[in-house]
Amino acid sequence: MSGYKNPETLYKEASELRARLATATLTPKDRRAIPQQDMPAQEPRVRARNMQEVAIGYSEDQAVVESARCLGCANAPCVSGCPVGIDIRGFLKETAAGKFDDAFSIIRKSSMLPAICGRVCPQEKQCMAACTVGKAEKDPEKAVAIGRVERFLADRASAKQKGAAVSVAKPAPSGKKIAIVGSGPSGLTTAADLARLGHSVTIFEAFHKPGGVTVYGIPEFRLPKSIVDEEVKNLKALGVEIVCDYLVGRTRTVRDLMEKDGFSAVYVANGAGLPKFMNIEGEDLVGVFSANEFLTRSNLMKAYDRGVADTPLFTAKRVAVFGGGNVAMDAARMALRTGAEEVHIVYRRTETEMPARVEEVHHAKEEGVIFDFLANPTKIIGDEKGRVRAVECLRYELGEPDASGRRSPVAIAGSEYTMEVDACVVALGNESNPLVTGTTPELTVNKRGNIVVGDKGETSMKGVFAGGDIVQGAATVILAMGDGRKAAAGIDEYLRSL
Ligand SMILES: Cc1cc2nc3c(=O)[nH]c(=O)nc-3n(C[C@H](O)[C@H](O)[C@H](O)COP(=O)(O)OP(=O)(O)OC[C@H]3O[C@@H](n4cnc5c(N)ncnc54)[C@H](O)[C@@H]3O)c2cc1C
Repeated sequence: MSGYKNPETLYKEASELRARLATATLTPKDRRAIPQQDMPAQEPRVRARNMQEVAIGYSEDQAVVESARCLGCANAPCVSGCPVGIDIRGFLKETAAGKFDDAFSIIRKSSMLPAICGRVCPQEKQCMAACTVGKAEKDPEKAVAIGRVERFLADRASAKQKGAAVSVAKPAPSGKKIAIVGSGPSGLTTAADLARLGHSVTIFEAFHKPGGVTVYGIPEFRLPKSIVDEEVKNLKALGVEIVCDYLVGRTRTVRDLMEKDGFSAVYVANGAGLPKFMNIEGEDLVGVFSANEFLTRSNLMKAYDRGVADTPLFTAKRVAVFGGGNVAMDAARMALRTGAEEVHIVYRRTETEMPARVEEVHHAKEEGVIFDFLANPTKIIGDEKGRVRAVECLRYELGEPDASGRRSPVAIAGSEYTMEVDACVVALGNESNPLVTGTTPELTVNKRGNIVVGDKGETSMKGVFAGGDIVQGAATVILAMGDGRKAAAGIDEYLRSL
């Protein structure tokens, strides 16, 4: 990943390159020689102290130039790398020709949330991992930057809408009612597909705002909430009803929804919102947070907006974040933006084994987050008032590869050290919340508490389907959407069989 370049320079370079490419007939070799277009971003030290989106977005010139890198492979391997099967080759071809509206229509056929996916999908592990350009470079990060072009097209389309919902022809009503539990990417995708088929859809959401992790977990500086709001508005325009502050499993059970409220089918997409803890001494001290709570307070409850939001924010000067995934990166970068002077990521393996996206690690480093690799907390130490004062960590070295193929961390006996901190954020991942499954004994779950489903998202309970993180375990936005899409087809087929 290259060093920081100011957006004006990137735009100018792209404009000159586009002009040169416009007059050339490009061979595959020429296309491979086009440099990947960097994503313009706010200057690192400035953005580390504000909530605005880090990535600014491609210019038209950049989108055209980047799309011209696509070789138009006959078998389009990138498409098979996309969980919702977007015709990537097709939209890149239209973009390279400057036909942005046509390009966006291609995306819209398969994806309900392109502005979100363009920003947060781990493309380097999906579509970009399959791209021939990246394979030739032996680095998926060098593949055609598919997500950046997707984001450009989605943002451009949204700007043209000027805040109005996308108008859609309403299909003839089927007379069937479907309930969806949870308004994350999976629930929203299923709702859109079913509404387009003429079914009456109601989403029940526990929080006061729809969007799932995209509103409560992924920070504003990575995914502005106005983008999620816009997708929700489009969904409502399709006729989908969203009932917030409604906890399925408490307010109503899944069975109640079907037997008392007349829903013919239910799609369970309640995510994996239960944080994992380390079970070490001191984890109950004041100043220790799960990443979920820390991010929910800052994001959904807008705690960063001091003086405007009512949500209290724990102020800390030195923060330690435990974990090496995207959630840990988000928590660390949020800690900087909410006033911490020094933020450490403590991770027991090395950077190579980190599950977080390379881009997120790169951004965190640029912003000044300090990485303490090969270390793991053993206890959190409090002061006389029960507040965090320090964390004791143990050093590790790498041993043999484990079942995941990554080299496993091996503790170095007697290597304990203490780091002074006044807040700790535990970001070790999430598990499924047992509320829905616990109150619906008909649902078969695996040993991790995830709902077991068949090919069409069908569960062991007739008329009940499930998908997203509640089935996959904590996964990704696009996989949750892929499940939603599959289940919508399954639900439609089921309803037609009644
Ligand atoms: C901090 C963080 C950062 C992430 N970053 C990325 C990223 O960069 N890229 C990426 O692809 N993925 C990322 N993920 C993962 C991704 O967000 C999830 O895989 C995805 O949101 C799962 O979608 P879902 O619809 O299954 O569940 P969710 O998004 O979790 O939505 C579930 C919804 O169900 C609601 N709910 C729960 N229980 C009930 C109930 N009993 N009744 C009613 N409603 C209920 C919840 O309030 C929530 O709104 C991140 C996750 C986190 C936590």
